[in-house]
Amino acid sequence: MTIPKTHPRYQSLCIRERLTDGVRTGITSQVGLIAHGRGEAFDYLLGERTTGSAMRAEEVAVAMLLAARRPVLSVNGNVAVLVPDEIIELGRALDAVIEINLFYRTEERVRAIADHLRLHGASGALGEHPDAALHPLPPDHPRSLVCKGGIHDADVVLVPLEDGDRCQALADMGKSVIAIDLNPLSRTAKAATVTIVDNVVRAIPNMIGLALRMKDLDADRLDDIISRYDNKETLLAAIEEIVARGVTGV
Ligand code: ATP
Repeated sequence: MTIPKTHPRYQSLCIRERLTDGVRTGITSQVGLIAHGRGEAFDYLLGERTTGSAMRAEEVAVAMLLAARRPVLSVNGNVAVLVPDEIIELGRALDAVIEINLFYRTEERVRAIADHLRLHGASGALGEHPDAALHPLPPDHPRSLVCKGGIHDADVVLVPLEDGDRCQALADMGKSVIAIDLNPLSRTAKAATVTIVDNVVRAIPNMIGLALRMKDLDADRLDDIISRYDNKETLLAAIEEIVARGVTGV
């Protein structure tokens, strides 16, 4: 469908279109559309912009990923269709491993995502051959599958649009977890070490810019940025920003 550029919700409609195309090509799951709907509702309330508190969380997240020994970026079907070039570029800027990791894992979908990322220039993304598990989760569900050399061994993991259960499992394994989640009330948002309450389509490009600006900061400076962060304060700020916008309309 052609969306008229003059439509007041042009960007939002284009994102919907990319996700439904993603379902057609087997990259995004139907459940991913529902997850997007929840995110879209919160984005509407936030004014579809990166708030001040989200930008600060993005800076802390980049500091953590730059300071990490084994940084990993997790990619699911929504991320693969919404920001394929950008997630690859962020991986390069941070020297981070990319792992395709799905809650509703099917071999066909992992392959479709891997092919899609390769088409966009990725080389070496993990996820097609998981050989380890998130041990706090019951082993009877594919959501526990991960890769050695990827999420299994990471010290810092970026998980855009993650489920609360898996976010908690990663934290229980002693990893620093950076979530991108538009819902500041989700279990993921509360369980993560750093929660970026922003849309992935804005957060990942912002993080590329930050990574390029911050890549030469020394370890003490990165530690200083990380140590001043408080996730509860960030979530409260996001809720306050939603309320303030509702009252004042800005
Ligand atoms: P939880 O288990 O953490 O309580 P949930 O059950 O809502 O959350 P999912 O159904 O897996 O978890 O939803 C994924 C999350 O991703 C939702 O909270 C939604 O707000 C968020 N989300 C969806 N689309 C985007 C997007 N484009 N950018 C950022 N976040 C998004």
